[in-house]
Amino acid sequence: MAMAVSEGLTQMDVLATEALGLDGDGWEVESCEFDAAREELSVSLNFTGQRSTCGTCGRRECKVYDTQTSKQWRHLNFLHCRTILRAASHRVSCPTCGVRAAQLPWARKRSSYTLAFEYLVARLSANRLPLSAVADLVEEPYARIRRVAAHYGGHG
Ligand SMILES: [Zn+2]
Repeated sequence: MAMAVSEGLTQMDVLATEALGLDGDGWEVESCEFDAAREELSVSLNFTGQRSTCGTCGRRECKVYDTQTSKQWRHLNFLHCRTILRAASHRVSCPTCGVRAAQLPWARKRSSYTLAFEYLVARLSANRLPLSAVADLVEEPYARIRRVAAHYGGHG
């Protein structure tokens, strides 16, 4: 898939943008940092759009109201490294709901994992792998993995 490369973006930023499927919805990769000691990749995202989707009713094209403090989400490992997305989410002024958190393209409301990460957990637990083994495999606390699996109708 062809993609415009903005000035100042490194190859890694471009790769991360494509891997996250962020092209065209107002979010872009601001930076990628690799912490060699922790073997952790940190991808910082920045929202540059004026309009966004309401996280409550799903209405599109709502005006951006303000920006919230930065949060982080665990994403799928990238090249065997633990990968964290960091972004300041924003609120929108929705004509139906009022001021509400915007829908993020990569995560469910209140989840600290990306949808792609949750999908992996759901797939693993659907394959009858015990949740304790899933938690070990992805190196996350059992209680949190159990909540993700339960959300997707898995055992737990
Ligand atoms: Zn709404």
